[in-house]
Amino acid sequence: MTVPDALASLAGALAAEEESLLACVHCGFCLPACPTYVRLGDEADSPRGRLYLMRAVVEGRLSPDSPALHTHLDRCLGCRACEPVCPSGVPYGHLLERGRAVVRSHRSPPGSVRLLLAVLARPLVARAAWALARWARATRLPALAARVLPRRWGVSAAMLASSAPARLPVRGGSVGSAARRGGPAPDDAPPERGRVAMLRGCVQEGLFGRVNRATERTLGVNGYQVVPVSGQGCCGALHAHAGDLEGARALARRNVAAFGASSVDFVCVNAAGCGVAMREYGELLAGDPSEPQAREVAARVRDVSHLLAEAGPRPGAVVEARVAWDPPCHLLHAQGEDRAPLQVLDAIPGLARRPLFRASECCGGAGLYGLTHAELGGHIGDDKVGAIRASGADVVVTANPGCHMQIGGTLLLGGGGPSVVHLVELLDESYRRAGLVPDPPKRGRDRG
Ligand code: SF4
Ligand code: SF4
Repeated sequence: MTVPDALASLAGALAAEEESLLACVHCGFCLPACPTYVRLGDEADSPRGRLYLMRAVVEGRLSPDSPALHTHLDRCLGCRACEPVCPSGVPYGHLLERGRAVVRSHRSPPGSVRLLLAVLARPLVARAAWALARWARATRLPALAARVLPRRWGVSAAMLASSAPARLPVRGGSVGSAARRGGPAPDDAPPERGRVAMLRGCVQEGLFGRVNRATERTLGVNGYQVVPVSGQGCCGALHAHAGDLEGARALARRNVAAFGASSVDFVCVNAAGCGVAMREYGELLAGDPSEPQAREVAARVRDVSHLLAEAGPRPGAVVEARVAWDPPCHLLHAQGEDRAPLQVLDAIPGLARRPLFRASECCGGAGLYGLTHAELGGHIGDDKVGAIRASGADVVVTANPGCHMQIGGTLLLGGGGPSVVHLVELLDESYRRAGLVPDPPKRGRDRG
């Protein structure tokens, strides 16, 4: 196939989405919600402008190898803040991934992105890479490098350093003494709520294994039986986000087979971006022999906050802290989970919630955005961290590893500040003080 033929066939793949592209009525409601449009003021960096570019390719008015298509689709965060405000229901995230697949076929992403995606797709290599990253993190050299290197060199070090367990600032008593008040008695058995399999994930298990363990414990306290599922791996979200749909499909097939073979009621995900990817496995694998099973698995996927909220959740003991909840875009905009995380926070007595200015806006982490658009991503991250500092919170709560590292890394580069924790880490701490879960081991290897 010649290069023009190949490009024509890719444009044809995007043409299959013509109906969705035509759904855009150019009303512009999405423009103020778009972080790149708000910052750059360029119509081509808005959802409407990007849809227009994709439609121009389908209609043959723009070549699929056009630099304009590359630049403006690349610059999109994929935050999907444009979806809930769209009166026409344009499936923007789905179209973006298809558009990026067209771009990727013509121009490879940076070497750092290709390397990372290749590592994540190989479980043994990924396991060795995470072990190395945890070792480096434990030396505290990344934290030092983040403080002394110029910002553009220190970003990756800061992100790695910020993935370490955070110290929880606590006022009003120490664990196991005065703080152990409120909440149910440890031997009160919760009602049974079903069997749950958990996606361990790649970054999540590699650098945030403690969040996965906290998820298992908090689900257990709320009556869910967590069952192990072997053969699972990376969900493929980062591959799809980067336009590598074939790579994403290969990873999705593996997870569909693993979770499809398990007899569970729910598949629990505690990383918002991975949750969206798994909920969209049916569309990703449309036409594939695994499509029916993919749709069946996708229908059972729930964010951990949703499962906990369904259970109440059970209240824990007092944790006195000023907290700011920063909802991950893929939880709020793409999964529509606006209430469940707040219900989880409400189960922790003693928290003082601080409102966060523009909380619903992306933090600039956006998957691999830090590698591809460090400057714009850093600018958006600075705005988020400015809002966090202004809130007066001493703990920032999030629910996605990318957001965790973007916010934590930006805070570190700016001289430190509030601790960053996952929602279930905070609930787990509250349960630990209530005696509902055991204390974590004090020694041992850093498992994240
Ligand atoms: S996904 Fe986010 S950055 Fe991209 S067009 Fe939509 S609102 Fe803008
Ligand atoms: S809100 Fe929806 S219909 Fe309106 S311009 Fe944006 S994408 Fe198009």
